[in-house]
Amino acid sequence: MTILIVATGNPGKLKEMQEYLEETNWDLQLKPQELDIEETGTTFAENARLKAVTVAKATGQWAIADDSGLAVDALDGRPGIYSARYGANDGDRIQRLLRELAETRDRRAQFICAIALANPQGAIALEVQGCCPGTILEAPRGQGGFGYDPIFWVEQQQQTFAEMAPETKKACSHRGLAFKQLLPKLAQL
Ligand code: IMP
Repeated sequence: MTILIVATGNPGKLKEMQEYLEETNWDLQLKPQELDIEETGTTFAENARLKAVTVAKATGQWAIADDSGLAVDALDGRPGIYSARYGANDGDRIQRLLRELAETRDRRAQFICAIALANPQGAIALEVQGCCPGTILEAPRGQGGFGYDPIFWVEQQQQTFAEMAPETKKACSHRGLAFKQLLPKLAQL
């Protein structure tokens, strides 16, 4: 098995990636704790690349990184790469978004997930991006998930991300779609 360092200090994210990559021959490990990476990119793809390359160079191992968030059309793509920093907690972030959208009729939005894989020399070997279109509700619905899930309505499922069974969200979410593209490419490396 080849070691693949996940460019995160978050064990939850490591576990999630392990689930997506469980059928593969990679041994996923957390990045060294002392390695701090500033997300200075202006797009999800740039941030994913930056994290993967930094970790690969620092460890001399293969590295994988993802960057994701919610882009709302009527807000010119905000919160976008600032999704995690849009408020002090999930509740605040949702309230801010709903306040900014107010009565806006165009509620279209996308969840986006960029994934980048860097080789041990620090060069990008693979990149993919998954996108899940939806609309922003006027009030939260559902108890599951995290982040903006309760206000993100997916037309095809007639549910918010927060109302979906975990397998349903996994199949249609930005992250699920990104990993679906990644898997066959990983197998060809
Ligand atoms: P990360 O890049 O995966 O850490 O995600 C950044 C932020 O985007 C999270 O803190 C959430 O606010 C938001 N986000 C990303 N993916 C999801 C999702 O599947 N549901 C809800 N919020 C998400």
